[in-house]
Amino acid sequence: MKIRIDKANCAGNARCAAIAETLYILDDDGYITVEEIDVPAGMEQLARRGARACPERVIQVIEDDEE
Ligand code: SF4
Repeated sequence: MKIRIDKANCAGNARCAAIAETLYILDDDGYITVEEIDVPAGMEQLARRGARACPERVIQVIEDDEE
């Protein structure tokens, strides 16, 4: 599974990291620092929850069978 993030439209409210801080790495101001994440095995659920928590809807989940 991969995560793609439209970093330019991140609003910096840190909701994603509140759910999954090891996946969604933020800068000091609370903005996302990564554009693509290879989700490690076993962290898929956490990744999906973090994506759903983003009020700006800038986090896209790409399931393995969608690549
Ligand atoms: S939840 Fe969305 S808008 Fe908020 S910091 Fe994370 S990516 Fe940015």
